[in-house]
Amino acid sequence: MPIPGQVPTGKAAAEAAFEAAKSFLELNGLTPLDGIDIREDRWTVSKCAYYRPSTIHICIPMCDRPATEGEVRNWNWPRSKVDKTPFGVVMHELGHHVDYWASSTASRGPYYGDHSEAVMNRCDEEGITGYASRDAPEEWFAEAFRLYMTNPDLLRLIRPLTYAELSANLMTAAGNAPWLERLGKGCPQRIIDSLQNAIHKARKRK
Ligand SMILES: [Zn+2]
Repeated sequence: MPIPGQVPTGKAAAEAAFEAAKSFLELNGLTPLDGIDIREDRWTVSKCAYYRPSTIHICIPMCDRPATEGEVRNWNWPRSKVDKTPFGVVMHELGHHVDYWASSTASRGPYYGDHSEAVMNRCDEEGITGYASRDAPEEWFAEAFRLYMTNPDLLRLIRPLTYAELSANLMTAAGNAPWLERLGKGCPQRIIDSLQNAIHKARKRK
């Protein structure tokens, strides 16, 4: 894992995430990935990345840039709640890999299985982002997993039951740095404010 404080970007971020993914899978005794396919030119696929057993495919120019202060519609920041930067995207795809191999053979689709739905039902919490609604358990799982891998302290504060479930079964190598520290330098204040708001809401729900 990159040291908290550093903000990985571009191809290097995808490579760093892949190294982190390999150590995570080894640490937990899970099925290794076959590899990562990193494209530096735009492709014809409509998404910035996808997983097919057992390779992660990612197109760097189609991932999102970290937000800047003035850019009000961009909420992407590495290791934040919304993170479609290459590092976060690889971790999301790793979530599909974990789900696929933890699922029963009969339940498996092209990149998912019944594991994600079972975890979602046990946790009974909202997804991390709009993309991860409960109608799509495989995306619900991949987004929760992505945050668990990139900023476990933030997941613990905004989705305590999901954090409890994931941490009971999977060891991350992310360490336990406070969430704000893991966001590193330069995170727009409006993103920090919205995360503080999400933490506050989660506390009230208890
Ligand atoms: Zn996905």
